[in-house]
Amino acid sequence: MPKKKTATIPIQKILAKIRPVWIERVGDELAQGLEVRAGLEEQLERFFDLLVQSAASQDPAWMDALLLDWAKSSTETDLEEGLYQVTYIINRMMALTIQVASETLTKQQALHLLAAVIPIYTYGLGVVARYEMETRVTHISSEMEKVQEQMERVDRSKSAFISVAAHELKTPITLIDGYAAMMEDLIREGRGVPLDGLLTGMQTGIRRLRSIVDDMLDISMIDNHLLSLNFQPIQIEKLLDVLKGELEETVGRRRQTLEIHPFEGSKQWIYVDPARIMQAIRNILNNAVKYTPDGGRIVIDGRTLPGLIEVTISDTGIGISPEDQAVIFEKFGQLGRLDLHSSGKTKFKGGGPGLGLSISRGILEAHGGSIWVESEGYDEQKCPGSTFHVLIPIRTESPESRMAKLFEELERKE
Ligand code: ADP
Repeated sequence: MPKKKTATIPIQKILAKIRPVWIERVGDELAQGLEVRAGLEEQLERFFDLLVQSAASQDPAWMDALLLDWAKSSTETDLEEGLYQVTYIINRMMALTIQVASETLTKQQALHLLAAVIPIYTYGLGVVARYEMETRVTHISSEMEKVQEQMERVDRSKSAFISVAAHELKTPITLIDGYAAMMEDLIREGRGVPLDGLLTGMQTGIRRLRSIVDDMLDISMIDNHLLSLNFQPIQIEKLLDVLKGELEETVGRRRQTLEIHPFEGSKQWIYVDPARIMQAIRNILNNAVKYTPDGGRIVIDGRTLPGLIEVTISDTGIGISPEDQAVIFEKFGQLGRLDLHSSGKTKFKGGGPGLGLSISRGILEAHGGSIWVESEGYDEQKCPGSTFHVLIPIRTESPESRMAKLFEELERKE
């Protein structure tokens, strides 16, 4: 008997046979964790239509548009994290096609189907993998660009630092030099004029030099995470009073007022490094004096927040533009303004080396706190003022048990 020739069923028909089971199986697997099942089914129907079209025409390029749509919809974040979602999905679809084919079709039909669709799946994997790779490469290149920009910024800030540091140091050195020359003349002339005034001038210059160098050392300690804190129990109120006392003379000279409003939490005993917290707030207060015109007002207030004490320092000064608000806590935030570098510690708008606020931030962050500023903007005429917010964590225990005992003592005395 002559062997009966099996008529080859067109691939479209074989695919039509597995279609409902395939859609359901793939849908079930991919829908896990997805909320919108309807949208997914629509996509699978679209995929299957194109699969049929590609198989019938033996041209897998029919799949391109859909595959790219899918690849694009998986976010860049997924790819950054190394989640190759779409390649995974296509791999699973291929495995499920093999499974469904072996369950629903005759051996011959299954072979016929797999011979037609596996090259399409492989092609699809290629398209998607290439896209995902390209996206990653783009991402990596943009990251590298960012790093390069950062390095260039550091480089610029380094050379700017050298010019500002030289300028800052030069002013007190010139001052000391001048007084020394005057003293020399007086001594040489042998006039018995008292030298006290000149010595005071020299001391002022030396103090200024020391404070600039100290700031530079502090910044380098903060940058290298070497700032060690000496925790002691204090009440914020006391620190603020000391600072007010320190500034009294300057504030008076500038005819400004400095008020401390009593606030909840200001009397609470907490552990901080008092010298460092004072330094952080002192820098803010010095700025408030410096950037507020004569006759202005500076107010210190605060409140408690869960786990934190917030201290606010508001002034009626020239204010800070939104762009500057973002950079003033960076070191040398004001480097662009060499014109301001007149080295006046409290003089109106007397610029400094631009280290004060970044030291304050470093100190507060080392305590687990933070600092930020609010200001309507910069306007020397209207003087909208600035408000600095300082958050200090409430620590009621010292890292050292001996200190904890002392703290208990103080609590009892309250
Ligand atoms: P500087 O040594 O320049 O004062 P800071 O780090 O202390 O450096 O401050 C950075 C910059 O922030 C200042 O140069 C000034 O432009 C701005 N700034 C700080 N505090 C105030 C304020 N209270 N009002 C207006 N501008 C301020």
